[in-house]
Amino acid sequence: MKMSKNNKNEVVTELKEKLLYERKNVCITMTDDELQKADSFCDGYKVFLNKGKTEREACSQAAAIAKAAGFTEYKAGVEYKAGDKIYSVNRGKAVILAVIGSRPIEDGVNIIASHIDSPRIDLKQNPLFEDTDLVYFKTHYYGGVKKYQWTALPLALHGVVVKGDGTTVDVIVGEDESEPVFSVTDLLPHLSELQYKRPAHELIKGEELNILIGSRPFRLNGDGNDKNESASSKLAVMKILNDKYGITERDFASAELEAVPAHKARDVGFDRSLVGGYGQDDRVCAYTSLIAITETDAPEKTAICVLADKEEIGSYGNTGLGSDYLRYFIADLVSAASRNECESGMRIRQCLSNSRCLSADVCAALDPTFADVSEKNNAAFMNYGAVIAKYFGSKGKSGTNDASAEFVGEIRKLFDDNNIVWQTGELGKVDAGGGGTVAMFIAKMNVDTVDIGVPVLSMHAPLELSAKADVYSAYRGFKAFYNFTP
Ligand code: MN
Ligand code: MN
Repeated sequence: MKMSKNNKNEVVTELKEKLLYERKNVCITMTDDELQKADSFCDGYKVFLNKGKTEREACSQAAAIAKAAGFTEYKAGVEYKAGDKIYSVNRGKAVILAVIGSRPIEDGVNIIASHIDSPRIDLKQNPLFEDTDLVYFKTHYYGGVKKYQWTALPLALHGVVVKGDGTTVDVIVGEDESEPVFSVTDLLPHLSELQYKRPAHELIKGEELNILIGSRPFRLNGDGNDKNESASSKLAVMKILNDKYGITERDFASAELEAVPAHKARDVGFDRSLVGGYGQDDRVCAYTSLIAITETDAPEKTAICVLADKEEIGSYGNTGLGSDYLRYFIADLVSAASRNECESGMRIRQCLSNSRCLSADVCAALDPTFADVSEKNNAAFMNYGAVIAKYFGSKGKSGTNDASAEFVGEIRKLFDDNNIVWQTGELGKVDAGGGGTVAMFIAKMNVDTVDIGVPVLSMHAPLELSAKADVYSAYRGFKAFYNFTP
């Protein structure tokens, strides 16, 4: 019997659905109720972004959220039991949370690792200078920034100053509407002919990222008749800082002061579908994995959430994941439950070798305006769900973890089984550039690791964009992973 035309079409449609992959916008497949949940989840996320603009602030916020959710501070040597919830802060800049599983720990743990440091402008150690009565801070940018994006923008100053007497004072200026902000000046277009001839990465040079912080000379009398020739604007600013914080110029030597955009995170778009804010790389994965672990109650495998520092400068330093603090934490959990040194050493190695990790970090979303840096088939799209990235790196996959097919297969199945929308993604076209994450540092411990995260537009810019539906799908994915027992 001959097939009718209609029948033929049906067969083709059926085969297409069965055999071909067609990615879908999450917002089409989500119910009203789910979209509503995604939107309200991001209300909490925006608060987290606003209250945590530095690694220290994000760390203390995370510890506060953990405490409120019943987590207690980790004590070395304690043998924790299934269901116990603990957290451990490393030097105020990184934090590990854990929910102890019911299975023996040598069966492996489920780790989600993200980072809470973001690109910014740090003050130098001797930052203060005055020129033509204007007072500035000299800076050294932190992480990969397009320097021109940081000029002519209201900046807030966050951080700590350790004074000569050893005491520490916290600084946050420029967040409250009533407080002043600071700014890096840029050249007016009228006089920019020579500046325009510079290569783009030098449009603003590193040494030109000077932050203007004051302009009035020191006044002794206030009667308009001040004869003090040596009165400088620098002195006037230092006097204000001394009155407020009790610091002197030498104290900057032992300070960590970070200039960040002063603006608050807010909705973007008429449909309010996007979150615009500073520091979403990688506080979007930090917040989603943090909330997910606070809602994890009785996992079979021990669930571990790591919010790390220093990723943006290569994970160096003892609060970055190039440090051994995560390994120590896991090793100490194992040791506390072991009878002797010999047994614990073996169980630690078993535990790590049987562990799994989602290296949670943002991925570049395809930007239609700059589509030529992406390869459409393999780029991540905004609103198409959490991104599973088998590899990042650069050139011939240099500097990447490159997850195994087996592990990607496990995670893919986990997400599909839990109706979590996901897409694959890579950073950009082959040889277009590149980047790395913390994945390689976890993989180094012989842990199965894959990169996963949220697609972001304008990554590393003062205003980064994420899609609420993607943020929510990452959160749901992380929750499923904490409860994952293959
Ligand atoms: Mn990142
Ligand atoms: Mn980054």
